[in-house]
Amino acid sequence: MIDFSLTDEQKELQQRARRFAQEYMIPYAHYYDKTGEFPRSIIRKAWEEGLMNLSIPKEFGGPGLGVMEQCIVVEEMAAGCAGMTTSIYVNSLGAEPILVAGNAEQKEKYLKPLTEDLKFVSFACSEPGMGSDVAGIQTRVKKDGGHYIINGSKFWITNAPYADYFTVIASLDPSQRHKSLCVFIVDADTPGLKTGRPVEKMGHRASTTSSVMFRDVKVPEENLLGKEGEGFKIAMATFALTRPAIAAFATGLARSAMEYAREYVNKRVAFTQKLREFEVIQFKLAEMYMRIEASRLLYLKAAWEADRTGDSTIPASVAKAYATDAAMWIASEAVQIHGGYGYIDQLPLEKIFRDAKLYQIYEGTSEIQRLILGRHVLSGYRPAMEKIPRWYNNKPPDFE
Ligand SMILES: Cc1cc2nc3c(=O)[nH]c(=O)nc-3n(C[C@H](O)[C@H](O)[C@H](O)COP(=O)(O)OP(=O)(O)OC[C@H]3O[C@@H](n4cnc5c(N)ncnc54)[C@H](O)[C@@H]3O)c2cc1C
Repeated sequence: MIDFSLTDEQKELQQRARRFAQEYMIPYAHYYDKTGEFPRSIIRKAWEEGLMNLSIPKEFGGPGLGVMEQCIVVEEMAAGCAGMTTSIYVNSLGAEPILVAGNAEQKEKYLKPLTEDLKFVSFACSEPGMGSDVAGIQTRVKKDGGHYIINGSKFWITNAPYADYFTVIASLDPSQRHKSLCVFIVDADTPGLKTGRPVEKMGHRASTTSSVMFRDVKVPEENLLGKEGEGFKIAMATFALTRPAIAAFATGLARSAMEYAREYVNKRVAFTQKLREFEVIQFKLAEMYMRIEASRLLYLKAAWEADRTGDSTIPASVAKAYATDAAMWIASEAVQIHGGYGYIDQLPLEKIFRDAKLYQIYEGTSEIQRLILGRHVLSGYRPAMEKIPRWYNNKPPDFE
């Protein structure tokens, strides 16, 4: 039987995250957005409240929660501040390749410390010359005795300057594209590894993004995740498990945008009436609500699939593409409903609008999700009608 209700544990987690967003995120979101400072103290609080590293299994000191619970938490947090939430959640992205492909020693060594103190792990896939085309990675790796040597540059790496370690994708031979990719765990203090200055961004300014340079970085062979050549598979498996959460981020941001708009139309008067009296405004709110409800159902479906089968590639792409486009539209309409006040920083809409855009870009752009889905419809998808019946000009049978 289909059941849309949350368990008591999930409801408690949701309430905890919602309280956290209202107490520790919303009141400081403007400050971090203006200064671009890294919100370390808020992240520490999230860590203390048990709202971080949710996917780490119990045997390594974590709560061992599923994708579903992570999504429930990040919807609440992103409703508070998208940037802070990205910085909090990126540990789950960085740790996911270890969960997907790590052996027991790697998990013990690198997952456990995340639960013992506040530590950061970043996911280093994108480069200055590639993002969508993961098979086009140019960062080189070569075997050297009991070590691997990495050379190259990564770009756009969330939390990089604060990372204790990285999961890094590099290529044994770029001409071999996806067949040559490998994933490594690289300690941030390894000689030859340097992070760049944080880049100035349109939104998500509470989340720090920078480059990472590798110059003859020597990584012990026991830090290879899976086998040589399995990097592409590990990266895709990682995204399939983390993309539902990006749809949940977008749902949370969109929900907040709608709630701010709802509050505003109850107060603002134009043409002697409250804005809420205008049907055009009611229709905008209705459309926002419909898209938020649809986004939530889609991310819950993707999360359910991820927890049930370990592979949510298709529902995750559906959820990510839909929810992130919905969030962008809702953020834009919420600004519109606020008129001039939507365009200035005294109300949060202007920030929400800037923050929304990133969801359509990172962890696979909206176009890449559609590429995955288009290919699915043409090849993986099994049509419900194995043979489409002839429909033209048939004389109906006589059942009388
Ligand atoms: C703030 C921020 C944080 C990030 N954090 C991380 C991180 O922690 N780790 C990490 O590894 N990466 C991170 N990224 C990188 C992000 O994942 C990439 O920016 C994203 O995947 C897009 O890659 P790109 O920027 O190289 O764009 P490109 O791949 O160059 O794409 C440019 C445009 O072309 C479109 N396009 C590309 N290929 C096709 C195609 N085949 N068909 C149709 N359209 C296509 C894209 O959709 C896009 O619109 C981050 C990015 C940002 C902005």
